[in-house]
Amino acid sequence: MKGLGKYLLGLVYPDLCEVCGRSLVSGEEVLCLHCLDSLPRTGAHGHEFNLLHKRLASTTPVEKAAGYFHYYRESPYVDIIHRAKYGGRPELIEKMARRYARELADTGFFDGIDAIAPVPLHRLKQWRRGYNQSRYIAAGICSIVPLPVVDNLVASRGHASQTSSGVFARWLNAGNVYDVRRPRELDGLHLLVVDDVITTGATLLACCNAIKSAAPSCRVSVLTLAVAHMS
Ligand SMILES: [Zn+2]
Repeated sequence: MKGLGKYLLGLVYPDLCEVCGRSLVSGEEVLCLHCLDSLPRTGAHGHEFNLLHKRLASTTPVEKAAGYFHYYRESPYVDIIHRAKYGGRPELIEKMARRYARELADTGFFDGIDAIAPVPLHRLKQWRRGYNQSRYIAAGICSIVPLPVVDNLVASRGHASQTSSGVFARWLNAGNVYDVRRPRELDGLHLLVVDDVITTGATLLACCNAIKSAAPSCRVSVLTLAVAHMS
């Protein structure tokens, strides 16, 4: 019945491609096949010292780093992230994460990873938004690769919006924002820290550093959907 209802609803309100607005057909999700084909993929997971790794690994040991697509200001693909974060449609990035995980799983990227740690939002921010988009990314990955999600990181104080402050301010603001609630639970684990976008890398670095200092035996890798270009 649920399937029939969805089918009938789809006849009246078909899902549209988030980039070109065309009606999606069966088997398409978020993007039509044409826009999926044109997605500016980074291919970062294929290179050990890729562009994400470079932003992070100079200050903290990061095992692996993957980012799905390039994030340019004028790119229509950016709207997917914006609608998911600010438009109340987090299912968009859950679906994108599921697609990315499907592509990555074949490359062995998830081999050796024990659990997923979504970057937390400060509780006030999460209350205002109603959800944490990183959890949806974790859920999307878990639907393909059955890994546990650890709810152990906490954002201990708010910081200025990532989009409204300068690069230096972001670095300052992101410092010491994250804490690990129960460090012993992370002992010896290889965690995959996930976030929607990497810009300077400050947020992910702060999370990785919080994990490493609370549980030094922990290893960390990172995954984001989008990789922003800073120039
Ligand atoms: Zn399209």
